[in-house]
Amino acid sequence: MTTAPAPALPTSVTVYEVGPRDGLQNEAGQVPTEVKAEFVERLLAAGLPVVEATSFVHPTWVPQLADAAELLALLEERIGDRARDLPVLVPNDRGLDRALELGCRHVAVFGSATETFAQRNLNRSYDEQFAMFEPTVRRARDAGMQVRAYLSMCFGDPWEGAVPVEQVVAAGRRLLDLGANALSLGDTIGVGTAGQVGELVAAFGEAGIEAERLAMHFHDTYGQALANTYAALQAGITTFDASAGGLGGCPYARSATGNLATENLLWMLRGLGISTGTGMGTGAGIDLDAVVATSAWMARQLGRPSPSAVVRALAGSGS
Ligand code: MG
Repeated sequence: MTTAPAPALPTSVTVYEVGPRDGLQNEAGQVPTEVKAEFVERLLAAGLPVVEATSFVHPTWVPQLADAAELLALLEERIGDRARDLPVLVPNDRGLDRALELGCRHVAVFGSATETFAQRNLNRSYDEQFAMFEPTVRRARDAGMQVRAYLSMCFGDPWEGAVPVEQVVAAGRRLLDLGANALSLGDTIGVGTAGQVGELVAAFGEAGIEAERLAMHFHDTYGQALANTYAALQAGITTFDASAGGLGGCPYARSATGNLATENLLWMLRGLGISTGTGMGTGAGIDLDAVVATSAWMARQLGRPSPSAVVRALAGSGS
């Protein structure tokens, strides 16, 4: 009997927290701006190195985030200039104008790997979306901003089914060629499985796009998010999107479950001995208990329990 060596895993990863934006954007009941600010502040205090705060999407599309400017002003009062480092989503040039006015230093755009989702979510064709993003990304980079590009439906699309790997790589290539610093590959409806992850990362590598420039954005709709995360670690991915408490979902998925819970991710990383510190050698990493407490608090604000198994296990009943 032969023993396969354990695959080399990264020693340290960056957790990119999306709860305040991706997690809250589909909440039906309006969350008070003060609660959102406290949510962001507590996540930062727990040691999360990146917290995406909000989106400058038009309020008629996402009424929950209509208070983006007020939230950032409130955060500046509470955490000072650090508020300008929190990434904000900018769907287009008008959104970027608002981010520039407020002095934001990190923005994200949101593209689609498929034609149907581009048309439904962006009201643009697949090709037209890149023309729309071009001035946004260029102006943001010219202003010295960091730009992240999200790419959605990378592992399957509710209307088109399987999405060819070559199509995902081509879309990602175009977003990076526009000038984006980093690319987050989204399993928007959570249908992906572990084998696809390695295949996709390898295809990006063959296209000259290293794992360091990629992030993974998994959804747990089919219970695959952690398995997919492990496959991504094996493939050399070191940035993972996650949402505190598992908040948020995809309106196009059949199930209510959505984003990979930050706590579920942290539990696995801790077990694997993978650091979530800042890479400075003494970084203490993210405080799992503090994230759990934050999610339990947020669940009380929203009036329903967190879908995260780790939050339920560590916070006890009634949270
Ligand atoms: Mg998501």
